[in-house]
Amino acid sequence: MTSPATAPRAVTAAARATDLSKVYGEGETRVVALDGVTVEFQRAEYTAIMGPSGSGKSTLMHCMAGLDTVSAGSARIGDTELNSLKDKQLTQLRRDKIGFVFQSFNLIPTLSAAENITLPMNIAGRKVDRRWLDTVIETVGMADRLKHRPAQLSGGQQQRVAVARALAGQPEIIFADEPTGNLDSRAGAEILGFLRNSVRELGQTIVMVTHDPVAASYADRVVFLADGRIVDDLPAPTADSVLERMLAITAASTPKDAS
Ligand code: ADP
Repeated sequence: MTSPATAPRAVTAAARATDLSKVYGEGETRVVALDGVTVEFQRAEYTAIMGPSGSGKSTLMHCMAGLDTVSAGSARIGDTELNSLKDKQLTQLRRDKIGFVFQSFNLIPTLSAAENITLPMNIAGRKVDRRWLDTVIETVGMADRLKHRPAQLSGGQQQRVAVARALAGQPEIIFADEPTGNLDSRAGAEILGFLRNSVRELGQTIVMVTHDPVAASYADRVVFLADGRIVDDLPAPTADSVLERMLAITAASTPKDAS
């Protein structure tokens, strides 16, 4: 998989959705969570997904990460269409090609920071690339805390371990779900900085769901969802420009409630 390409390849996006729809429930409980979403996430790019609560952010992330099935359309990681995979292949793809960072860190309490970082690779029976691992640990500044258990670390440090764990396997893409949701603003800024550095310096691809315009401003691009559709796409975001778009999106959906 890591063999060098012998001929120039068409550059495929790290992940993409094409006419992706997701419907939950039936009849009166039917909810169209995603309504024909088409979007590409380029390699070595940091994308934030924003939108009002219930707009489909988590659903889009779950469908694209193979954590949920799609109702129509397709989700691809690289060239691989997730729909076409059997359960076992999907598990394998998630393990080998996708990194996850969750709001709640999801570390194993009985393992040290170092053991948590290498756990997915150990489970997969993959050889740990020591040099890469050292680079990752250095990037997130955890070299002096590797023997600590999660309970002996602050929230910010635990999230750094989770970021290192996601980066360690050199996944095709990292999906981060409100990664700073449980952190104070200083620790949050640190994590967002590490995520951005991993894109700039290590070439990682990251897609992050957030509702925080400041968090989104660390990304290269912000994709906005409303009612299960992409309604805006903002390159080179700033906290102010993100907030402005969010207000416009919220205002646009207000008359529906007011009428
Ligand atoms: P967001 O992450 O933007 O808050 P979600 O993707 O969680 O939005 O939800 C989009 C819509 O889909 C909402 O109306 C939500 O209630 C609905 N939804 C999400 N998950 C489920 C589920 N498992 N069953 C039924 N409806 C769901």
